[in-house]
Amino acid sequence: MRGDVLIAGAGPTGLVLALWLTRMGVRVRLIDETAAAGTTSRALAVQARTLELYEQMELAAPVLERGHRVAAAALWVKGERAARVPLERIGSGLTRYGFMLVYPQDEHERLLIERLSQLGVAVERRTELVDFSEQQERIVARLRRADGTEERCEVSYLAGCDGAHSAVRARLGTGFPGGTYRQLFYVADVDAAGPSINGELNIDLDQSDLLAVFPLAGRGRARLVGTLRDERSEHPELLTFEDVSSRAIEHLKLSVARVNWFSTYRVHHRVAEHFSAGRVFLLGDAAHIHSPAGGQGMNTGIGDAINLAWKLAAVLHARAAPSLLDSYERERLRFARRLVATTDRVFTLASSQGALANVVRTRVVPWLAPIVMRQHAAREFLFRTVSQLSLNYRTGPLSRGRAGAVHGGDRLPWVAADGQDNFHSLAAMRWQVHIYGVARPELSAWCLQRGLPLHIFPWGEAQAAAGLARDALYLLRPDTYVALAEPSAAVRELERYFTDQQLALGAH
Ligand SMILES: Cc1cc2nc3c(=O)[nH]c(=O)nc-3n(C[C@H](O)[C@H](O)[C@H](O)COP(=O)(O)OP(=O)(O)OC[C@H]3O[C@@H](n4cnc5c(N)ncnc54)[C@H](O)[C@@H]3O)c2cc1C
Repeated sequence: MRGDVLIAGAGPTGLVLALWLTRMGVRVRLIDETAAAGTTSRALAVQARTLELYEQMELAAPVLERGHRVAAAALWVKGERAARVPLERIGSGLTRYGFMLVYPQDEHERLLIERLSQLGVAVERRTELVDFSEQQERIVARLRRADGTEERCEVSYLAGCDGAHSAVRARLGTGFPGGTYRQLFYVADVDAAGPSINGELNIDLDQSDLLAVFPLAGRGRARLVGTLRDERSEHPELLTFEDVSSRAIEHLKLSVARVNWFSTYRVHHRVAEHFSAGRVFLLGDAAHIHSPAGGQGMNTGIGDAINLAWKLAAVLHARAAPSLLDSYERERLRFARRLVATTDRVFTLASSQGALANVVRTRVVPWLAPIVMRQHAAREFLFRTVSQLSLNYRTGPLSRGRAGAVHGGDRLPWVAADGQDNFHSLAAMRWQVHIYGVARPELSAWCLQRGLPLHIFPWGEAQAAAGLARDALYLLRPDTYVALAEPSAAVRELERYFTDQQLALGAH
């Protein structure tokens, strides 16, 4: 059987890539070597930027409905709650999703699989990608089924969404430089009671090893995440929940009724040297892995998939030159490197040992955190960073111009004013133009003639405060990022953009 894109790996990254490609009319095959989808909760945080992009697939509403909004983070020292930082409205005014949301990865994957099957695509289980080669502008892959039979599969492109131990990455021979944390991570999903089971995030600061209790949807359900660096971490296979739970019981006054899942794992911080080679791409954990503190990993894989999907669709539908695909690595590798460096710095700092670090953690942080979080600028910076709203492709090859505070490559600022929400039209997964103010007749005529949707919003204080420029032109890509920000709104600039980028307009 032939398909346009073979996706190896049906974790969140592969599932999202399959969804977006299918919606854009690209035929996909999605294979996974496992017999069934994962049943453990793993990544919990669904960041605001992911939810915004999920509107393109009507996925934001079900994730919100099934997930849990975290009202606050409490910092514990010596068995007492030393500080509480409200999170409920931490990003209000910046996005529709200005809060922290947790939604376990297994439920999340089930939702994506469900949506994919509604589009007529099923995950081909017990099907392993064994090998592949590029032959005459095609990828020829060898797939092996559980019964040992093999199949030759010919496609235009191969997407390696096959996780941290990626066979695709290994076959490409792409380096995966970085390191491994000394700490051993453990996770446990529990049914429990106590003051730290209150729907909030509870973090114990007493020791340099991390211990946090995340709320899950449903009464009395929580996830414990911790690290160990003592001798117990030498033999993780022997560890049980009982070996690690005393601190949570003593420090966070947790009373555990049932352990639903317990697991330990080592965490690496690594970024692949390349995210693409010819007709092959690496996405998600196959391309980058880092500490789970900060809840970025899964969200970044989803972002990779959405970045690549429209580019593959444009090239396969002959509306873009194949060179468009080079921008995937240019845009996503830079972000992944910065993310891995940042999570590494933060994690290393937070887990540093010694008397001074102890004082900072147990005295300074509980005192300072609520003060800092009361500062609008600090709160906004933190939220924008963690939620990935500030992720941009300014230095990428597809980004051009600046109008107001908005550069080509930026996420469009969200403005909801006078009953109008400028993100509504972004659900369309296609090129479009936004004007805030008045559009010149020749621009309207050009857009109409080319079938390029033009959305005109009223100008006002809210638009100015968001950093938009009056009457400027914002050309938006199918993945909602600003391609061109042009203060003059001149048609020739718009035309030049499409010519220079060798892009033709179409539905996607
Ligand atoms: C125990 C544990 C706890 C975690 N906790 C957190 C957390 O708290 N927060 C957080 O942000 N992240 C956490 N993570 C990481 C998070 O789960 C990953 O970032 C996320 O799953 C990455 O998604 P992915 O789709 O890129 O890769 P994966 O989810 O790893 O999916 C890869 C898929 O590819 C398949 N596959 C592999 N090789 C082949 C092949 N040759 N042929 C066919 N299929 C193949 C695999 O079966 C798998 O289904 C945790 C991970 C683990 C293991």
